Amino acid sequence: MKKKDLLDKYRKKRDFKKTPEPSGKPRRTTERSRQPMFVIQKHDATRLHYDFRIEAEGVLKSWAVPKGPSTNPQDKRLAMPTEDHPMSYGRFEGVIPEGNYGAGPVIVWDIGTYRNLSDVPIEEGLRNGRVKIWLNGKKLKGGYALARTGMRPEKWLLIKLRDEQADAKRDITKTKPNSVLSGKSVAEIAA
Ligand code: MN
Repeated sequence: MKKKDLLDKYRKKRDFKKTPEPSGKPRRTTERSRQPMFVIQKHDATRLHYDFRIEAEGVLKSWAVPKGPSTNPQDKRLAMPTEDHPMSYGRFEGVIPEGNYGAGPVIVWDIGTYRNLSDVPIEEGLRNGRVKIWLNGKKLKGGYALARTGMRPEKWLLIKLRDEQADAKRDITKTKPNSVLSGKSVAEIAA
């Protein structure tokens, strides 16, 4: 039996002769010696949003978060699932040219590793629509929950857990707007 290609949707949406985004290959499995990664890309497409991605099943499971993450546990940030992305996408910064899917500048807003806080494997949590992870990013730290709240269209919420890293007074997308890789803003990458 042919193994399901998780990146099929990703590839069908893009022409790799026209976009600088990586075509990518799914990784076999997450190596045991390494913590899985997460990345948040700030993407100024038709509307500015933040793409939240976590490593699972050899790819980056992805959601588009219009308002971006919050450090305030009272904020419930809408997260719309998008197609799985290749692992190599995690360090992608650049401009998706006009006329291509997701046209506009992309920066790596935050990057790091995560730890599963739940008793069940991450893949099962994703299937069940209940994920709890501890982020160890350059900007974001601490526990976050992703909870599926609806189908058709499938909708999730991204919520900061109540822990010592929570901060209701901080507005992290405003105070730390730039790339953690290049230090650049989306406007600087676009230029
Ligand atoms: Mn996007």
